[in-house]
Amino acid sequence: MKKAIFLDRDGVINAMVYDPGHGLLDSPSSSEQFHLLPNVGEAIKLINEMGILALVVSNQPGVAKGRFSLQALEAMDQKMARELGSRGAHLDGVYYCLHHPQGIVEEYRQNCGCRKPEPGLLLRGSQEFKIALNQSYVIGDGLTDILAGKAVGAKTILLGRPKCNLCKLMDELNATPDFIAADLLEAVGLIQQMEGGEGDADLH
Ligand SMILES: [Zn+2]
Repeated sequence: MKKAIFLDRDGVINAMVYDPGHGLLDSPSSSEQFHLLPNVGEAIKLINEMGILALVVSNQPGVAKGRFSLQALEAMDQKMARELGSRGAHLDGVYYCLHHPQGIVEEYRQNCGCRKPEPGLLLRGSQEFKIALNQSYVIGDGLTDILAGKAVGAKTILLGRPKCNLCKLMDELNATPDFIAADLLEAVGLIQQMEGGEGDADLH
């Protein structure tokens, strides 16, 4: 059985995009809008070097909502692979939920089992790669990532600096992550310590 680090995409690997029409941050809708966050290449290269699978698990309801096409999503994938490749890093797999219960594209309008917090994408990855989920990790910037990870018994790391209202929600939803890290590189550093970290015990 293999180990995996499941990575949310938007806000973890690539920057969110400011949408002036709605005044909100949203997912990129084209490869031109897709830009890696700082240190992400280095972080994913570290995962590769640890011999752990690096798998993206991401809700992309923009397809169901008609915001962008599957072709645009594929173009973003290619840019993600190219930019990681130029930093010596690679992803072992990318899994998307394209659905949304209120989508306008009929094919993708449904209540599915793969939209996080549902764990469907994690389960699909674990079947394809024979992954031990209870020895694996989920890293995301939202409580939906934490809930999906907890549902399959993975360790969870939340990125960002949560405000107190989010901490209260964590309690209410039973969505408290195992760890909180500032960015992907810090999160992978934590995992590296846990995976190799017997030496640390001597210090205490
Ligand atoms: Zn889905």
